Amino acid sequence: MSNAIFKLPTPQNEKVLSYAPGSPERAELQAMLQQLKSEYWEVPMTIGGQKVKTGNTVTMHPPHELAHTLGEYHVGTAEHVQQAIDAALAAKDAWAAMPWQDRASIFLKAADLIAGPYRAKMNAATMLCQSKNIYQAEIDCVAELADFLRFNVEYMAQIYAEQPPISPEGIWNRLDYRPLEGFVFALTPFNFTAIAGNLSAAPAMMGNTIVWKPSEAQVYSAALVMEIFELAGLPDGVINMILVDGPEAGEVIFSHPDFAGLHFTGSTGVFQHLWQTIGNNISKYKSYPRIVGETGGKDFVVAHPSSDAKQVATALVRGAFEFQGQKCSAASRAYLPESMWSDVRSYMEADLASMKMGTTEDLGNFINAVITEKAFDKIASYIDQAKADSNVEVIMGGGYDKSKGYFIEPTVILAKDPKYRTMCEEIFGPVLTIYVYADDQYEEILELVDTTSPYALTGAIFAKDREVIQFSEQKLKNAAGNFYINDKPTGAVVGQQPFGGARASGTNDKAGSILNLYRWISPQTIKENFNPPTDYRYPFLG
Ligand code: NAD
Repeated sequence: MSNAIFKLPTPQNEKVLSYAPGSPERAELQAMLQQLKSEYWEVPMTIGGQKVKTGNTVTMHPPHELAHTLGEYHVGTAEHVQQAIDAALAAKDAWAAMPWQDRASIFLKAADLIAGPYRAKMNAATMLCQSKNIYQAEIDCVAELADFLRFNVEYMAQIYAEQPPISPEGIWNRLDYRPLEGFVFALTPFNFTAIAGNLSAAPAMMGNTIVWKPSEAQVYSAALVMEIFELAGLPDGVINMILVDGPEAGEVIFSHPDFAGLHFTGSTGVFQHLWQTIGNNISKYKSYPRIVGETGGKDFVVAHPSSDAKQVATALVRGAFEFQGQKCSAASRAYLPESMWSDVRSYMEADLASMKMGTTEDLGNFINAVITEKAFDKIASYIDQAKADSNVEVIMGGGYDKSKGYFIEPTVILAKDPKYRTMCEEIFGPVLTIYVYADDQYEEILELVDTTSPYALTGAIFAKDREVIQFSEQKLKNAAGNFYINDKPTGAVVGQQPFGGARASGTNDKAGSILNLYRWISPQTIKENFNPPTDYRYPFLG
């Protein structure tokens, strides 16, 4: 085994391809979409490298074409959760002992597979599974996932190189970055294939072994991520993918003495419930589990009268409606000055009128379907309530139809009450609520923005005046973990804008940054003395 300190390839953000008409990547993607639609995928669980089929299956359909069946996945039980924990613990020692360069290589190779030979398949799977248009799929399952893997390898190397700066004569002080003792549970949401891959890969990279439960609504693309990790050389048992009902899985995981950490992204309510369960079980564990959770948001856009109406309108339509508003960072409440409201409104109306809604396979569609019937019904109920309430008005969109797929029009609500429920609660759909304020009330509006919702994930301000920008940034210091000046509040890029929020939006451990990787290690300090003392007496004793 070599003991050299190897120089890593410098990570670069994966280039986002255009998929413009006539481009080779567009032709390859379209062929892959057709191929996947002509196949029937049977997705097993992966436990200790074994493909586990239970015969208890659930069929998978594109949210925008319910009549089509993509395949089926095998649902497991508590017994499979236990098997996955056993497999993770059995794989632990060998994986933790593997030189970090070899662990790095596996994930760098996975990134190259994703950005290379598997690019079209990753995109097509994400487009069909989560109803993302090609641009949304490309920035998620290809660019962001490859970035997560490549940048995290760089951060891992930086952590390992960090050593105590001082070793006085005769002493050698060292830090060893052990993985956590036990297994890590990665529990992932439907909306980003990249998050699903990263939540399992990041702790694994640091030498941990993982039980991973993807969302029921993301199994189709999650299975492909698992396949790529294996193809890249991930040893059996390092990441175990279980397809078990969340609470049933939690029951086994959170009572296990070797439970060492939770890497979660999902809704605030679920995370708070999990935290409480872990707290109640604290005396059962061998160590204090690391709890990392990135959760909901109620992300804002505030425009100052000095800002540009067209820029604000574009940020709102992109920020609120891309991927049907199902990004945790999606703009869902906006505060606009009276003086620019009519301009912003007409720009938005023109944009929405030009947006096409339909399947992801038709690349002319900007808007696709929302993820599940449950999500559709919840979003539709907010819209119905807004139509019935007298202190708000649905001024754009408001239509929905689930006969062929879960389609909801981009919807804009105008609220007279800045604390109306759609200004405060996370809807997680294509619904934006706007409050129009008197131009001279800007300072009061910032106070309102800061105190309206329990979340603090993303937020944006638009202004030309530098003093206003500086003042707004200070005033909203704790209102957003990712703060944008003259830009939409979505689209964080790994290596550029580490992502995460505070307050009810999460533990703010910034996925895709060195800060996140620190959570998956338990450093050991080693002091070696080359000349141990042989007399207990100090000089002061005379
Ligand atoms: P969700 O909370 O419904 O589910 C997340 C995961 O938890 C899924 O795998 C689900 O099966 C599982 N789960 C649900 N209840 C459980 C329970 N009682 N015990 C164990 N597991 C359980 O979230 P979702 O609908 O998949 O994703 C959308 C949510 O995620 C939104 O609230 C969004 O804001 C948030 N999100 C946040 C970020 C961020 O970085 N802050 C990023 C993406 C999504």
